[in-house]
Amino acid sequence: MNKPSIYGMTLEQLGLWLEERGHKKSRALPVWEALYRERVSGFEEMDGVRPECLELLKEHFSLQTLEEHTRQESSDGTVKFLLRLEDGNLIETVLMRHKFGLSVCVTTQVGCNIGCSFCASGLLKKSRDLTSGEITGQILKVQRYLDAAGEGELVSHIVVMGIGEPFDNFTHLIAFLRTVMDAKGLAIGPRHITVSTSGLADKIREFADLNLRVNLAVSLHAPNNDLRTSIMKINKAIPIEKLMQAIDYYLEKTNQRITLEYILLRGINDQREHALELAELVGDRRPYVNVNLIPYNPVDEHSHYQRSEQDSVLGFYDMMKKQNVSCSIRLEHGTDIDAACGQLRSKQIKREKTPAV
Ligand code: SAH
Ligand code: SF4
Repeated sequence: MNKPSIYGMTLEQLGLWLEERGHKKSRALPVWEALYRERVSGFEEMDGVRPECLELLKEHFSLQTLEEHTRQESSDGTVKFLLRLEDGNLIETVLMRHKFGLSVCVTTQVGCNIGCSFCASGLLKKSRDLTSGEITGQILKVQRYLDAAGEGELVSHIVVMGIGEPFDNFTHLIAFLRTVMDAKGLAIGPRHITVSTSGLADKIREFADLNLRVNLAVSLHAPNNDLRTSIMKINKAIPIEKLMQAIDYYLEKTNQRITLEYILLRGINDQREHALELAELVGDRRPYVNVNLIPYNPVDEHSHYQRSEQDSVLGFYDMMKKQNVSCSIRLEHGTDIDAACGQLRSKQIKREKTPAV
């Protein structure tokens, strides 16, 4: 069997692991710094670690990161990586450049079982959850790409918005968040991290209880149950009322604002009456909610969904403003490469399945 990845452990876990084997817990720190500050690519490069500790780690863990299958670089600086996991599965990771820093969008599962009708990731059923080492490995992969360029650039922000439903892989998600936030490692602040969920209400509560201070975004995409169920079948099991109760719990518990994501689909959910209904739904939560309008990235297999006309986008936005709902329109990145979440992967898989002629 392959050895587990060392990137799958938090600093606390690594310390306990060493302690159980007769070493001081504090010996984990130089290992941690070698992994996340120096970003060594082999155990032999860990200069500051005692040889007996090093032997033990070498024996039990792998330091391997993800293998690059394809890399697409966009003219706006976006870089999309198609990465191969140890078992051969492919996942996507995207680096985006903003005025405020560099953000990385990570994948949490191979495929997704939520099956939203507009999404490329949902086309391929979930085959497994990623381990926390594989999620952290994506950040390291991108950071090493930046390290190699020699400009001293650092990943400053993370969005958990790649393939998969992060709250359906909760334990690994949380270990990943603790790892990347650790002040002695990558030290990415919680307010620089956003987790997006399709709305698993129980997990929203559990996430609130952990009080990690990480931002939360909920994919709402429709202002009423009929419409939401027609585009997101999860709404049958967790209707809007239940979702809003979990959101209220989150707001009360964390005192943090929340983002409601809203993809604009032409002629489906993008009319002024939908905006009005959405404002009503937000109701007295206005001070704590930001609505993020997302331009739809068309997916070949879902050709009945199209991007909204510019007039509808602006009309929707104006209506939100008129109704005093805080609202923003998401900027797009990498439109000249396979941009939509899960698109590059699903195209590659189709290619691999289609015999060459
Ligand atoms: N599963 C989680 C996180 C991954 S998807 C979730 O659904 O929230 C991240 C965001 O991208 C979600 O808001 C999702 O609805 C949106 N999305 C999915 N497919 C898209 C597409 N083709 N165009 C634009 N946004 C898309
Ligand atoms: Fe899964 Fe999110 Fe895509 Fe829905 S939008 S299928 S939850 S990845």
